[in-house]
Amino acid sequence: MPDVLLISDERMLEHRPGAAHPERPERLEAILADLDARPIAGTRRESASPAAREAIERVHRLGHVQAMEAIRGRGAFLDQDTVASEGSIPAAYLAAGAAIRAAEHTLDGGGPAFALGRPPGHHAERRHAMGFCLFNNVAIAAAQALERSDVERVLIVDWDVHHGNGTQHIFEDRDDVLFFSAHQGDFYPGTGLVEERGRGRGEGFTVNAPLRSGAGDDELRAAFLGRLIPAAQSFGPDLVLVSAGFDAHVDDPLAGLRATSQGFATLTRMVRDLAVEECDGRLALVLEGGYDTIALAKSVRACIEELVC
Ligand SMILES: [Zn+2]
Repeated sequence: MPDVLLISDERMLEHRPGAAHPERPERLEAILADLDARPIAGTRRESASPAAREAIERVHRLGHVQAMEAIRGRGAFLDQDTVASEGSIPAAYLAAGAAIRAAEHTLDGGGPAFALGRPPGHHAERRHAMGFCLFNNVAIAAAQALERSDVERVLIVDWDVHHGNGTQHIFEDRDDVLFFSAHQGDFYPGTGLVEERGRGRGEGFTVNAPLRSGAGDDELRAAFLGRLIPAAQSFGPDLVLVSAGFDAHVDDPLAGLRATSQGFATLTRMVRDLAVEECDGRLALVLEGGYDTIALAKSVRACIEELVC
């Protein structure tokens, strides 16, 4: 069994949206400090490289990329809760680059990978930043993977507590990306209804499983068993990507689900088994949200421990 590749970079700590902002450098610091203090056997660490601009432009409109370039080194308020600081644009390129590297690594037969990056990505739309996200890291990795001759179909599983609106919208008219999201319903960003199933050729290739506030591990597992697994099996992915947010954790301050770190381990085992069954275990996780630093580090560890065994 090859080592699980963990990709991160301390330069991503230089994205500083402000002391009161939930998406703060301490999130990634907590994860890396935990992995430093108690390294997990069977893992290998690697630094990130920035994504090529061409890779970003496969997903985002030129106007958005130019707008991000225009604030490089100085920062800006991008929407009511999305803030860029001096170091944010390099960090965003690194977060996208980490996601790309994770996907390429597993596609090359290297085993599972986890891109531990920030800023997160799944709210970023084709034309604009949104919801703490500057570039849509998982979408950029999926689009780059689809350039390869050995990849025709990519499954994206999003278990962040918020609906992955950006990822859904970027791929909703395509039949080569199946997007599945389990999230808290009636919550930010307001999309992710069951009725949103994709458009045109993409009809049926978006699967949303909104959960009630207070739902936890059992409901998440049931959504995976009842909605994700059957859809994924009939889709037949060549690669499985996960938008792995940990803000559905019971201790998370932003949301109202009650998942546990062991629950995230169970979800990881389910997607790992799915990837083994469908595509020789080609699986890459990409960090999204998770705002209680202790719960975040513990949940990331629990997921990695599932990947190494
Ligand atoms: Zn989230």
